[in-house]
Amino acid sequence: MNFHILTLFPEMVMNGLNTSIIGRAVSRDLLSIDAVNIRDYAFNKHQSVDDYPYGGGAGMLMQAEPVYLAYKAVEEKVAKRKLRVVYLSPQGDTFTQKMAEEMAQEKELVLLCGHYEGIDERVLEEIVTDYVSIGDYVLTGGELPAMVMVDTISRLVPGVLHNDVSAEFESFQDNLLEYPQYSRPEEWRGKKVPEVLLSGHHAKIEKWRREQSILRTKERRPDLLEKCELTEEEREFTQKA
Ligand code: SAM
Repeated sequence: MNFHILTLFPEMVMNGLNTSIIGRAVSRDLLSIDAVNIRDYAFNKHQSVDDYPYGGGAGMLMQAEPVYLAYKAVEEKVAKRKLRVVYLSPQGDTFTQKMAEEMAQEKELVLLCGHYEGIDERVLEEIVTDYVSIGDYVLTGGELPAMVMVDTISRLVPGVLHNDVSAEFESFQDNLLEYPQYSRPEEWRGKKVPEVLLSGHHAKIEKWRREQSILRTKERRPDLLEKCELTEEEREFTQKA
């Protein structure tokens, strides 16, 4: 999968994404991450890419043309067809695991990062296909949200996680949070690992994990549990717990 991040701060995104699992996936050619500097497409001699908003108001706005040219350069280079372009914006749909799963099917994904007060509406109308927010708060720029998206989507690309199973049973799968996990030692400061996990009994372990997921979701994210499909037995268990 190839990510193209349109940004005024390419070093910020590249520095943040070239370590650990994502960095290794890039060096194994499972992913590519290309940060395109919008400033390279400035059309005046001062290389400025922002200006005052018409009608007044605080702050500056990123101008349409450099953003448009930066996108067109990617389109021309990789596909010669209209690409999927996500504008990171607090006004977008909130990013979810489900969205990440769907976007992980794309071969090319363009992420557009705003800065200052945002971007001239006209270029957004022209190139953006999806508006995505990472939560109901306002950041200074779209770079951290773009990094959040690249990280989340990348780990769903086959081969990126060594053990593909670890992406399978995780929080938000089936609208449940993940069960608690334990590693060595068996006893830490008087706290023991639950007996069932040491039993080697696969079916019992699976049952225990599913119940723990349900309990944890009930406690921490009851809104998710409402959307979760439970068996009759699990429904009774949830009510009693
Ligand atoms: N004036 C804009 C508004 O009120 O909707 C906010 C602009 S914000 C200061 C600057 C840039 O940060 C935005 O263009 C967007 O790319 C990014 N940004 C800020 N908060 C975000 C969020 N919650 N999710 C995704 N991107 C965000």
